[in-house]
Amino acid sequence: MRQTSAQKGITKGKFRPSKTADGVCPYAKKCGGCDYQGISYEEQLKKKQEYMKKLMQPFGKVAPIVGMENPLHYRHKVHAVFDCTRQGKVVAGCYRKNTHEVVDIESCMIEDGEADRIIRDIKELLRSFRIKTYDEDTGYGLLRHVMVRKGYHTGQIMVVLVLGSPILPSKNNFVKALRKNHPNISTVVINVNDRKTSMVLGERNITVYGKGFIEDELCGMRFRISPSSFYQVNPRQTELLYRKAIECAGLTGKEKVIDAYCGTGTIGLIASRNAREVLGVELNKESIHDAIINAKLNGAGNIQFICDDAGRFMVEMAQKGEKADVVIMDPPRTGSDEAFLSSVVRLAPKTIVYVSCGPDTLARDLKYLTKHGYQMKCCTPFDCFPYTEHIETCALLAKTSVSAV
Ligand code: SAH
Repeated sequence: MRQTSAQKGITKGKFRPSKTADGVCPYAKKCGGCDYQGISYEEQLKKKQEYMKKLMQPFGKVAPIVGMENPLHYRHKVHAVFDCTRQGKVVAGCYRKNTHEVVDIESCMIEDGEADRIIRDIKELLRSFRIKTYDEDTGYGLLRHVMVRKGYHTGQIMVVLVLGSPILPSKNNFVKALRKNHPNISTVVINVNDRKTSMVLGERNITVYGKGFIEDELCGMRFRISPSSFYQVNPRQTELLYRKAIECAGLTGKEKVIDAYCGTGTIGLIASRNAREVLGVELNKESIHDAIINAKLNGAGNIQFICDDAGRFMVEMAQKGEKADVVIMDPPRTGSDEAFLSSVVRLAPKTIVYVSCGPDTLARDLKYLTKHGYQMKCCTPFDCFPYTEHIETCALLAKTSVSAV
């Protein structure tokens, strides 16, 4: 969701956030990022609540959605695609819906203001450093995307410059000029993406300033986040979501816990404070690397991380006849798969905590689990993405032969 120039209130190059949460954003039609434009926040929450109630009806009751006190500027990860108009003007923002035309966006009401200002300044710097934007059709030019990630509690900022080739001319001066206006930038990374792909990040990262990662805090623990690692974009709501997940797990210190789709180990590490042992499994190598370091950073000796497909890992565990007391699962929007779910049933944990960013796939997977000996005991939606139709959910399932946790 982006603002009108009147709303933007730009004075002497400074951006003042709009006071109206419900005004329609002028970029809305072109950007397509916000589905709930022009709808009051209260109404948005009502719509999400009703949607979840209907979807979850076969499984049980839905608790009131946890909304935000201030639903603006909550995105702490901001991504902009760069391009150049025929007139030679550098533009940065998002693709117009269903096209490859870049909508030039000055500032966005759901994105962190500082991240937006960094992207605006990079547009200016490209001109003075004579750096060309990348042309998707010809493969000519250099800068494709910029990703900015900001730690909520630490304020540390990572800037990832996604380039079509590894060399950024005058890179030290470029970083110096950028940090002059934004001293909170703690690391700058070049990500090389030389492929014709819709994926933003390529595989190779080159750190040109700082450590190559940032750190942030969640639920009293510290987490290191690398450029390609998953980390929730709305830190305020994430803390509430994770607290709920831990509460649902009902840990007493005796349990063996599996944190499936664990990313950088966030939920598993928070759980490890009240569990006997935790096993985290995740497909992304960089995330697992972060997770192992995060365990050391937080002095957690009872957690182990495995880089594998969660389904394959669970099948192996089930085949070996291993058991688990609690399975926490947080799959991507596509949900889990039958290999995973059928193995969870064989592992027979007394509690499953399902954290989901895709209500439809959650409902699909709940259908399987409730047919195979589990019952949904509670379901709490969290509004981690105001102004968009996305919803995060924490669902607690208990083995039907065991009383509710
Ligand atoms: N629990 C973490 C990450 C959740 S996002 C957190 O809260 O931060 C989902 C994660 O699942 C991503 O890190 C993604 O890399 C991982 N993933 C996707 N497919 C997977 C698979 N088949 N097996 C294991 N992990 C997978």
